Amino acid sequence: MNLPPWLQTPARWLLGTHAPMRRHVIFVLASSQLYIVNLGIFWHSVHLGLMHPPFAAALTWASVVTYLSVFALVRSGWTQRLPDPVLTMPHALVSIGLCILAYTQLGEHRASVLILVAEALVMCMFRLRPTQMLSLGLASVAMLLGAVIWLSWHDPVSYPASTGLMHFVIGGSTLLILSLVAKWVTDIRMRIGSQARELSRALDTLQHMATQDTLTGLLNRRTMTDVAEAELKLMDRNGSALSVALLDLDHFKHINDHAGHAAGDAVLCGFAAHAQGVLRQVDKVARWGGEEFLVLLPQVAQHDAKSAIERLRAGTERLAYAGHPGLRATFSAGIAQAHPGDTLEQLVDRADRALYEAKRKGRNRSECADPEEVPPAAPDLAPLLAPPHVLEGSTP
Ligand code: GH3
Ligand code: MG
Ligand code: MG
Repeated sequence: MNLPPWLQTPARWLLGTHAPMRRHVIFVLASSQLYIVNLGIFWHSVHLGLMHPPFAAALTWASVVTYLSVFALVRSGWTQRLPDPVLTMPHALVSIGLCILAYTQLGEHRASVLILVAEALVMCMFRLRPTQMLSLGLASVAMLLGAVIWLSWHDPVSYPASTGLMHFVIGGSTLLILSLVAKWVTDIRMRIGSQARELSRALDTLQHMATQDTLTGLLNRRTMTDVAEAELKLMDRNGSALSVALLDLDHFKHINDHAGHAAGDAVLCGFAAHAQGVLRQVDKVARWGGEEFLVLLPQVAQHDAKSAIERLRAGTERLAYAGHPGLRATFSAGIAQAHPGDTLEQLVDRADRALYEAKRKGRNRSECADPEEVPPAAPDLAPLLAPPHVLEGSTP
């Protein structure tokens, strides 16, 4: 929530800075209105001569001490280690107990505190689990029954058993129904919570699957295309350098055929992990095809890109693969630097031709594209598309 600047310091002082704790303190602060209304009822009853002042004072002290203790425990952060950092259940039991005590002393005003008990139950349904909610409702009904029996026993003149029975039936059944509804709402709240968590996990998985290659964990081709196109636009705007390297594992078919497909997969994964470790954090590596990888090197000119790829190549030669002793793999690479206005297709195409050169020259090496190389012009299809009578030599 965005508070006006003048409120931010007092809010920090009152609620703290830790986000979950702030929510917990706000919940405890919200429950203070129950205490305020309760104290209002006590002292109004004293004013009307319905309640003895010493009893009102005792209840006031008990309420203030209960509330301030809960506030201090939550605000100090001590309760953060507990499963319920708001202390909902013990707090509700004590405050409902105080309401029921007040019920025994409030004379004709006594029914009003039952509304406060109901309000306490409603507040709790946002924090308790379904079984806790039901237990709290039953505990409230039991406390009310105790108070009704005690009053009918001690003061049968002003509180005859018939009044007690009527209060218990109406008050008790209302509290019971309310706690059942609250349990039902709590059930729904818990279900929605767990569905939301499942949904968020599924979204994470989907996002992972949509952006990453399942075998190697590298970026997939689609994500790399987006990343590279964004980098090309950035390069066009600020005039910085950008290079790409297209890497292809050498004689990979031979590895698959002689060491098995699992060994081939181990090489792909081992190489991917190695490449991510060797290159800078800002460089991006993607699985471009089967045993082909595209490395994007932002703000790197062709010459420096070649040094980085040569470093990677030297490391790859020596790379060992767990579970496949003696297995070695190498790669060939074609490196190209982006020209202003280049499309990703044009850039990768130049890197691909340099890669072809590296393969042709014997593999396990890297070659740079000719910086002056102009992309081949698109074939002129105009004559083929023109109507037949426009073509040379044709008659209308
Ligand atoms: P070159 O040095 O000319 O690149 O030869 P090469 O054998 O690496 O090239 P070729 O394109 O003939 O073979 C690539 C092989 O990569 C064929 C294909 O079965 C294999 N391959 C593609 N994807 C995977 C994969 O995910 N796992 C495994 N194990 N093999 C794969
Ligand atoms: Mg290949
Ligand atoms: Mg290959």
